[in-house]
Amino acid sequence: MTYTPIDTDFEVVIGLEVHSQLLTKSKMFCSCSTGYANAAPNTHVCPVCMGMPGVLPVINQEAVTYTIMTALALNCSIPAYSKFDRKSYPYPDLMKGYQISQYDIPLSQNGYLTIDLHGQEKHIGITRVHLEEDTARLLHHDGYSLIDVNRAGTPLMEIVSEPDMRSPEEARLYMQKLREVLVYLGVASGKMEEGSLRCDANVSVRPRGEQKLGVKTEIKNMNSFRSVERALEYEARRQMAVIREGGKIRQETRGWVENKGITVLQRVKEYADDYRYFPEPDLPPLLISSEQVEEIRASLPELPDARRTRYQSDYGLSVQDANVMTEEKALGDYFERVMAVSQVKDRKARAKSASNWLLSELVRLLIANSVAIENCPLSPSALANLLDLLDKERITGKQAKDVLDEAFASGELPEEIVKKKGIKPPISDQGVLEGIIDGIIANNPKAVSDYRNGKTNIFQFLVGQVMKQTRGQAKPDIVQGLLRKKLDESPA
Ligand SMILES: [Zn+2]
Repeated sequence: MTYTPIDTDFEVVIGLEVHSQLLTKSKMFCSCSTGYANAAPNTHVCPVCMGMPGVLPVINQEAVTYTIMTALALNCSIPAYSKFDRKSYPYPDLMKGYQISQYDIPLSQNGYLTIDLHGQEKHIGITRVHLEEDTARLLHHDGYSLIDVNRAGTPLMEIVSEPDMRSPEEARLYMQKLREVLVYLGVASGKMEEGSLRCDANVSVRPRGEQKLGVKTEIKNMNSFRSVERALEYEARRQMAVIREGGKIRQETRGWVENKGITVLQRVKEYADDYRYFPEPDLPPLLISSEQVEEIRASLPELPDARRTRYQSDYGLSVQDANVMTEEKALGDYFERVMAVSQVKDRKARAKSASNWLLSELVRLLIANSVAIENCPLSPSALANLLDLLDKERITGKQAKDVLDEAFASGELPEEIVKKKGIKPPISDQGVLEGIIDGIIANNPKAVSDYRNGKTNIFQFLVGQVMKQTRGQAKPDIVQGLLRKKLDESPA
């Protein structure tokens, strides 16, 4: 597949700053619970996260570990020494007037994330992964605003990329891949729609061939992968139009307005000086030994790229199936549980049928019933049991779909359903089937002569007649073979 650039005269340059809340139990610098999602406003708060004077923050060790895990998964190096800094800014969602963040010596730096760009691997540089705290939430009403401090102090990891992306599509692929990695590590929920994963994008354009970077703008408020791509495309085109008309791009922050499909000016960009960073005097420096780093590295779970490769090599899955089951980790987890309980010799054949049934029929049921795979009422052993019945030719594919529907609804084991409903084994006896087919041919002379006169689409009608007479107990492929043979070879 070839990629068509937005514009042949200009090149787009994109770097992303991604913020992810971490799935720690408590907040970054106090013991308040982070489980405030369904709580009343201002109920998960204490003097520390409310920014009262005189309080002392304490570093959350779990948040540090999660950040190092992420940094290692993104191929970053972890310096032995890093520290926290105060970043001053005067917004009402930050009660103490500054955010505790990391400035010149972050927890990690110099990594990369690999994306798949139309079948080609591309490394996107990771400048740094550092740790900071989330702000409170402002709820704007008509003429006044309310503040909810529950979110304030939630551990927030910032992942800054190099300006290595050259199209809005690459930015979307990067975001999707990054989310996969975070979810696989178990450090974040990765839910953009809920705001636990947020993305700010720096975008600039320059004439093709130019080495110097153009003036960038920063885009905020994108809450889906699709809106990241749309917002960047809009903004890149806006900048190109300004330059073509002889105008200049200003360094500024712009907000994406989803329902209008445009970016609008929010404020003229701050520079690092404006934040008056200085070392956080209430926190000790972070000292991470290489033993600690190696211990964390050794404990990393399997990451998406490794799973994708393993599904193809060990299970013989197609690239596409392997991709689907990697992107949605829970689907792959379910698939692996089906494989774990499958007592079969031919593992690849089982993997193929398991992924087929999982990705088509089971996903269909999940969508129709609005159930997430994590809460699937059909257990992996029940699906394996259904596949066993198919392998043993105890039921036909058509019957298996009906049994699956029932097992999904009732939670019963497929073999119990087969027994209870008195489903007879499929008719595979050739003699019996031939007798039935002869009868169908004799009773449908018009259809038979139409078929022999070239109206071959009548064939399915005749197959249907056989299936009807056998109550779906005949195997369609055998029926088709026998019927075609009889119709073709012996004109009556
Ligand atoms: Zn607190």
